[in-house]
Amino acid sequence: MIPLLGSFKVGRWFGFPIRIDLSWFVLIVLIVWIFTTVEFPRQLPGYGDGAYLAMGIAAALFFFLSLLLHELAHSIVARSRGVHVQGITLFIFGGVAQTTMEAKRPVDEFLITVVGPLASLVLAAAFWALGALTAELYILAPAGQVSRYLGWLNFVLAAFNLLPGFPLDGGRIFRAAVWQVTGDLRRATRWATMGGRLLGYTLMAGGGFLILQGPFISGLWLAFIGWFLSNAAASSYRQFQMIRTIANVPVTRALRPTPAVAPQASVLELAELFVAGAASALPVVREGGLVGVVTLEDVAGVPNDGRAELTASELMIDLGEIRVVPPDTNLDEVVAWLQNSDGRPVIVAAQEVLHGILTLQDISDWVARARTLGLDRADPRRGGVGEYAEPIVRTEARREESRWTRHRDETHQDGRSGAGTRSDREVGHG
Ligand SMILES: [Zn+2]
Repeated sequence: MIPLLGSFKVGRWFGFPIRIDLSWFVLIVLIVWIFTTVEFPRQLPGYGDGAYLAMGIAAALFFFLSLLLHELAHSIVARSRGVHVQGITLFIFGGVAQTTMEAKRPVDEFLITVVGPLASLVLAAAFWALGALTAELYILAPAGQVSRYLGWLNFVLAAFNLLPGFPLDGGRIFRAAVWQVTGDLRRATRWATMGGRLLGYTLMAGGGFLILQGPFISGLWLAFIGWFLSNAAASSYRQFQMIRTIANVPVTRALRPTPAVAPQASVLELAELFVAGAASALPVVREGGLVGVVTLEDVAGVPNDGRAELTASELMIDLGEIRVVPPDTNLDEVVAWLQNSDGRPVIVAAQEVLHGILTLQDISDWVARARTLGLDRADPRRGGVGEYAEPIVRTEARREESRWTRHRDETHQDGRSGAGTRSDREVGHG
C-alpha cells in the first residue's frame, strides 16, 4: 500500500515505535534544497547562503516534527478507542500511523481521523503566532520567517488531508459518515476509495498541466502525489476486502499440503516441491523433530546453478524466529503479524502436531480461490461444508513426522513458547 523501501526504528514515543523509511531521505533532501535555494531567499531577501541553509534545515526538522505530531494524534485516539496501532512511519509522502484493524464504530473512525487535521491546525496557529511575534525583531527575523512559514505548511497539511479521498483523512471522515448513515462499512469503503482514486487522477491531471505550463517541480510533485493517492485508494479497498474475507476464518482453512523435508535435501529438490504446488514454506524435520522452515522466497533467492549444492539446513529459518499459533487462530490475526515479519512464516501447531505453515502468499492465494469459488460469502467457521473446519494436513504420516519436542526448550529460551498454548498469540507483537 505504501511504497516503502525498508525502514528502521528511530525510537518510541508515547509507546508507539517511530520508524523512518529510506524513501523519507529523498523527501528531506528535496525539502531542504527547495527551502534553502528557492523559498527563503524569496521570502526574506538579503541574507547569506549559510543563513538560508540554517533556515532550510530548521524548517525541515520542525516540519517533520509537525507530521509526527499529526500521526501521534491519530495514534493516541486510536489506542483509546481500542484500535491497535503498530507504529508510525515517516516516508516519502509524509507520515502514516499503521493500524492492523478497522475502527469498531463510525464515531470511533471519525474521532480517530479528525484529531490529525485538528493537531495540524493548532500547530499552524501556534507557529503563525510565534512568527508574528518575532518577525519584527531584527535579529530574530529569520526565525520568525521560518515559524510563519511552518504555520502555513501546517495549514496546507491540514487542508490537503481533509480532501475527500480515502485513505486521506477527509476520505476517512467521508467513509465514517456514509457508514453511519447506511450502516454498511463495505459500501462506505467502496465510495470513499472511489473518491480517493478520482482525487488522485485529478491531482495527476493538475500536475501534468503545471509540468507543461508553470513550475515544473511542483507539477511533478503534484502528479507524483496523485499517482500515489490513486494507488493507495485502490489497494486500500483490496486490503479491506481481504481483511473482510479472512475475518473469523480459522488458519486451518488456508493450509496447503506441507511435505516434510530432510535437512540434507538440496534446494533444487525444494524448488521442485514448491513448483508442484506445495505450501510456500516447508518444514525441515530431523529424527522426527521439526528443526526449521524453508520458504519459497528464500529458495527463489538462490541462483539456479547453486541449488544442487546448498541444503535445506543451510537455508532454513530457525524455529526460534518463527511464531507458533494454535489451529483455532483466525487468519486476520496472523496476517497482521506476517505483514511485519520480514518474510518469516507462521507455524500452525497444537499438542506437538504440526498442522501446517502459512505465509502471506498462501493467504492471498486462499482469498483469491475462496472468492472465485464463492466461499468468501459462506459462514467462515463452517465454510458451507463440514470438512473445511478440519485441518487439511492431519494425516497419520504427518503426525509421525512432525513432532518437534527437540526444539521446544530452545524456543522457550527465546521467550517464545512451544506449540499450542493460548499465550502464543501474544508473541511477535513487540
Ligand atoms: Zn491524518
